[in-house]
Amino acid sequence: MPILIHESKKTIWVLGDQLNREFAAVAQATPQTHRILMVESAEKVQSKKWHIQRAHFVIASMRRFANELRDSGFEVDYRKATTLAQGLREHRSEFSPTHVSVMEPASHTALAMLRRNDCEIVRSNQFLCHYEDFAHWKEQLLERRKTFKMEDFYRWQRSRLNYLMTIDGEPETGTWNYDSENRLPPPKDGKNQWPAPLTSELDDIDRQVIDELRPHCVGQTPTGIWATSRQDALKRLNHFIDNLLPNFGPHEDAMLSSSWHVAHSLLSPYLNIGLLRPAEVCDAVQNAYRQGQVDIASAEGFIRQVIGWREYVWGLYWLWMPDYADLNKLGATRNLPPLFTCDASTKMNCVSQVLTEVDSHAYAHHIQRLMVIGNLCLIAGINPQQLTDWMWANFVDGAEWVMVPNVVGMSQFADGGQMATKPYASGGAYIDKMSNYCKGCHFDRTKRVGDNACPFTTLYWDFMARHEVVLGKNPRVAQQVRAAFKLSDLPAVQERAKVVLEQLSAGEL
Ligand code: SF4
Repeated sequence: MPILIHESKKTIWVLGDQLNREFAAVAQATPQTHRILMVESAEKVQSKKWHIQRAHFVIASMRRFANELRDSGFEVDYRKATTLAQGLREHRSEFSPTHVSVMEPASHTALAMLRRNDCEIVRSNQFLCHYEDFAHWKEQLLERRKTFKMEDFYRWQRSRLNYLMTIDGEPETGTWNYDSENRLPPPKDGKNQWPAPLTSELDDIDRQVIDELRPHCVGQTPTGIWATSRQDALKRLNHFIDNLLPNFGPHEDAMLSSSWHVAHSLLSPYLNIGLLRPAEVCDAVQNAYRQGQVDIASAEGFIRQVIGWREYVWGLYWLWMPDYADLNKLGATRNLPPLFTCDASTKMNCVSQVLTEVDSHAYAHHIQRLMVIGNLCLIAGINPQQLTDWMWANFVDGAEWVMVPNVVGMSQFADGGQMATKPYASGGAYIDKMSNYCKGCHFDRTKRVGDNACPFTTLYWDFMARHEVVLGKNPRVAQQVRAAFKLSDLPAVQERAKVVLEQLSAGEL
């Protein structure tokens, strides 16, 4: 058998969430001097019960990106291997590259693996604020202050990146944050329409990936909602700007049975694996505002999510990991209920709606995640690590860096208040205000005792009483803790909470 002698080139290893020609290190590569390596890891595919739309999205996007690189002249060594490191070893054995470069990965585990395997690690430009710059910003702020929060970071980002700013360095229209205008409940008059997401026809690449993944995955099979190429992701961006952005701001917290996406951009998956870059998305939104297509509240609200919240979470992940992922300061030990794995149904209409949408689309928007799924787990005392893992596996935009701070810190208060200043707990009243889920629900959101009492309302008061020691000292919720102990029926609420928790764990709620 003839031995193939490969031309000696440097290797650029492109990881599955680095699919963009502008990203270091691939931005420096030329077909004459570099060969591209991409590895699909069997270990990664089998590491969780992934939602098939999540796994298909990443793998189909990887295969298309490899084809794009080939079309522009690169030799791409695209391999399937038992692990990422094994793929690298096989590549080295076959091609003997002079050296292997890779952009900084998005997790501690991957970074350690690359260091162990003698890769040259190139500083990432995937985010607008590198995590070392984030850490430096935090250090400087803490020289003057005792604490830092997202709003501080957001203003710093907005000033230095010059989004929605005047030439005098002031926020346009004089206001930094339009959050208070962006909390409208769902419209009651039916006037607002929520245009359907674009879809792409599935092709041979999609069908092959789906066939390979189906035995390992859960959830409904992909239908083409999630773009798997840069070209199609750019079309999704334009669709959002032209059709949904004007309604995004006012209704960004609203939840509707009739629309799983409402006016949300659905762009986070593309940002998270590189099909879109944060600057081009924010530039497009700012241009729409400058051209009078959208008002300031929608433009500011969206840009804040990208340059503020998203980059803040990225910075916190690197600042606090790896120990942060294991925090469980409220001692929440209950297992994830069977309804999360579709082993049970539920009479709670809000939960049923959101979990059905996750099963159908591998997606729920931020308030559904925080105030329905997260809220239920928080007040029921579900183990935060199990919830993190479930969200990571089931959302199309899931990743460790996204899920750990958002679940452990923001949603479950498992860090004791390091990230959020209060636990995001609510009874049925909040869900009723921000959605139409409660109408027709088996439970009554106004009741906290009795067989048809809303489980959120019952567990909310039980949660406040259960965590009196910790929450009673928190100025943002101490009043609710005191209110719980003033309830004349608190013993009955606590008895009802025991029944609710047993039913939840048994899949009978
Ligand atoms: Fe959810 Fe309670 Fe409303 Fe039912 S009544 S939809 S359980 S908040």
